[in-house]
Amino acid sequence: MARGGHHGGGFHSGGHHSGGGHFGGGGHYSGGHYSGGHYSGGNGSGGGFSAGGSGCAVVIICIFFYGLNIIGNFLSALTDGDIPGLNMINLIIFIVAGFLFIPSFMQADRTIALVDLRESGSSSSFVTSDTYTGERKGSQKTWAGINDKSYRITFAGKEEGLKNCTEVLQTMKGTPRIIWIRPLTWVIIFIVICFVNSFFYESIIPIFENMIMSDFAFAFFDELTFYLPSVLALGCPILSLVFVKVRDNILYECAARLASEIDTEEKKNETESFIKAELSKKWYHVICPNCGAKASASLKTCINCGSSLEVMEGDKNLNSIRRISENGSTPGADNYLNRDWEAKDADE
Ligand SMILES: [Zn+2]
Repeated sequence: MARGGHHGGGFHSGGHHSGGGHFGGGGHYSGGHYSGGHYSGGNGSGGGFSAGGSGCAVVIICIFFYGLNIIGNFLSALTDGDIPGLNMINLIIFIVAGFLFIPSFMQADRTIALVDLRESGSSSSFVTSDTYTGERKGSQKTWAGINDKSYRITFAGKEEGLKNCTEVLQTMKGTPRIIWIRPLTWVIIFIVICFVNSFFYESIIPIFENMIMSDFAFAFFDELTFYLPSVLALGCPILSLVFVKVRDNILYECAARLASEIDTEEKKNETESFIKAELSKKWYHVICPNCGAKASASLKTCINCGSSLEVMEGDKNLNSIRRISENGSTPGADNYLNRDWEAKDADE
């Protein structure tokens, strides 16, 4: 649509202007349908409501028809191009965008603890991936999948939880904030865009109408201005879902780090307790230094003469000694210093 003057045909008028009139004055809303016959008329003051139980049904039916009426008017206004900022195409985009929030909302629960974590710096809950198969490393409460990107990070517990809180908070601070916006916030942004849409086109298009540009350029800005809010609205659920995946990746990396540290710590503890257990073992003679009788593996005293078999400082004949741990467990072959005495024994 071009009218008059400037640019070889020049002033433009946007193609999506609404018909006007309908909300303030005209027919559809303030007009006949509502204040008219249906409600203040017959039903209410007449028979309907005073009839006790059936009154309720009447109210529901009234609300139902009232709702149908609104939807009907809305659709008929829409097909006439009368709802500002909406036509069939961007209405469908808005509705599809609304439904597209479902997947990211279904995933929201498992990382809801991050909200607590960010707001108060701690949480008594945990975050987890949506699936878990196969092997994993770490502890019972904090682990990362070895062959897949599954994870679980607990924030409960004095040592493990606090450490995990610090680590995850650190990670969150080191990454763009937009990643951590939760689905509910995206929905709020979406609703704001839906609201803004109703006056966006009418507020912005005059700027382009008053600019000097070709018909083609104007047609482009006309469509862009009209559909921009719906495209942005569609972006909300898509970003919401994309960031669910991005968060999962980041949290997995975090869990993998924490799990490795737990494994390292565990190995260190294992080694330490092994050394401790080894140190608690004492050396005993295999052949009684007093009477020369051979002692079986677990004996600490000679069954022949009753003297102690424990190796004391200054003892000789240390070729045939063995160890027994404090708890009395029977030593294996490794606990013999060497087995020369066996060979000698066999020779005799
Ligand atoms: Zn003896």
